[in-house]
Amino acid sequence: YKTLRLILGDQLNASHSWFKQQDEQTLYLIAELHQETCYTVHHRQKIAAFFAAMQQFAFALQTAGHQVAHLTLDDTKPFKELPALLDHLIESYSIQRFEYQLPDEYRLREQLANFSESLPLNSAAYSTEHFYLPDEEIGKYFQASKSHRLENFYRKMRLRFDVLMDKEVPLGGKWNYDANNRNKLKTDDLANVPAPLLFSNDVTSILERIDKHKISTIGHSYTQLLWPVNRKQATQLLSFFCEQCLPRFGQFQDSMTGKLSLLGKDNGWSLYHSRISFALNAKIISPQYVVKTAIEAFERSEGRIDISQIEGFVRQIIGWREFIRGVYWANMPDYASLNALEAKRQLPSWFWTGDTKMNCLQHAIKQSLDYAYAHHIQRLMVTGNFCLLAGVDPTFVDDWYLGIYIDAIEWVEMPNTRGMSQFADGGIVGSKAYAASGNYINKMSDYCSDCLYKVNKTTEDQACPLNSLYWHFMDKHQHQMGNNPRTKMVFSSWLKKSEQQRIEVLNKAKHCLDDIENL
Ligand code: FAD
Ligand code: SF4
Repeated sequence: YKTLRLILGDQLNASHSWFKQQDEQTLYLIAELHQETCYTVHHRQKIAAFFAAMQQFAFALQTAGHQVAHLTLDDTKPFKELPALLDHLIESYSIQRFEYQLPDEYRLREQLANFSESLPLNSAAYSTEHFYLPDEEIGKYFQASKSHRLENFYRKMRLRFDVLMDKEVPLGGKWNYDANNRNKLKTDDLANVPAPLLFSNDVTSILERIDKHKISTIGHSYTQLLWPVNRKQATQLLSFFCEQCLPRFGQFQDSMTGKLSLLGKDNGWSLYHSRISFALNAKIISPQYVVKTAIEAFERSEGRIDISQIEGFVRQIIGWREFIRGVYWANMPDYASLNALEAKRQLPSWFWTGDTKMNCLQHAIKQSLDYAYAHHIQRLMVTGNFCLLAGVDPTFVDDWYLGIYIDAIEWVEMPNTRGMSQFADGGIVGSKAYAASGNYINKMSDYCSDCLYKVNKTTEDQACPLNSLYWHFMDKHQHQMGNNPRTKMVFSSWLKKSEQQRIEVLNKAKHCLDDIENL
């Protein structure tokens, strides 16, 4: 072979221009790497999904006539790090040129840039040809340390890529239909929640490899993996979403329920969400294809899918997903150590078991351990909110999210966790800290009615811990909260309480924090 081309586990884009021509002289490398299994403790399903998808991709490339080396953990065991493996292959095959696609993670981009620089042969880095916004244009939209707002960016993207536009005007007359999209699932709505489309990909041998190589993992795994691992399954999942979930996607996007699992049903975790994030982040499917397919379903639906649902979905993909990526690249590597609220606490150990009496947290965590998945509001307003209120060090929070979710890759995990949910970036991603008391959880879910704690109590014995922790957070960060136009009003209601009341609330919060392991 003359050329070695590296394909990382999240670069499974079959439409990449690399694959337009077959070339006997080019060897594609797809390898299960030890370094990738242990930079954090991953969920078992996450490792299984990446390895299964890589295996399928290698097979598809071979079938299409390309030369592929698909290496398992057994093959790569002697090489602790990727450069050592690459050096070995370059030497063994007398390779003359090394090529790779630009990694989306800072850690890997640095590693491969350094490796290429040290090589005595020619090398080149290519775009992954996946995102709407090309790499070289990120700097036009995002600057380091600067606060950016999703809405401005999102409108620019809609205009630029002509998505849901009627010439210069947004389709339906409004850019944003979020206000229509904040419903709670009522008891009558529960019967309509569709059962999720799940796959059964046999990952027995991958799980055996994980154990054989003593890779530390979290969460449960099943020999039949339910996540999509190839393009066919990803498009099936997307069609299922467009047919069954998109008509109510926006409407119930923020709602959460524990009732369905009490009824023994297996659809409370998925609700109306697409669960397409793994296939997207592994680049098995492209954001353009997802958006185009959803818009076609909207156009065909003769009103069954209304504009607020499709707009809500499109905003997640061409808005949030691209926005988060821009923030990441404009601010790395400094972003990884931001801690604006100086949070220092450890995560309580029940984050790894779900054994807490707080019903909302118990649900979100157990579900994450079961499926490697929680939807956005569970991540932001349940687990994320708890960490924010309790003052958990954002590095521990990042690490937990990076490990547990099927779709967690640093470029998308970190600005969401450290920025949006922990406000550790001081407002680069969001204009306020997403802090909430039990009242918010009660408004958006049915968790509270089955909880040991009382959501309408703050200082009493059985009071919901989130209530006192919320005021404790406001009080502790009064400088930020009192001066921020979006939290100023709430903060002033804290000041309106009598001194005695405030002392009682703060004492209760202190008690909760001292007893955090037993909440
Ligand atoms: P849907 O609700 O069906 O949304 C459709 C798609 O929109 C998603 O697949 C995703 O690609 C995109 N999207 C929606 N919101 C966001 C967002 N805030 N940022 C980026 N893309 C978004 N997403 C990840 O892909 N990886 C992560 O590691 C990750 N970590 C998160 C951590 C926290 C604390 C929070 C609050 C959010 C995180 N998100 C992450 C964003 C979001 O929660 C997930 O993308 C979403 O839950 C995936 O499920 P879905 O495919 O069913 O999404
Ligand atoms: Fe969560 Fe509090 Fe409601 Fe319990 S009462 S589910 S802890 S918000």
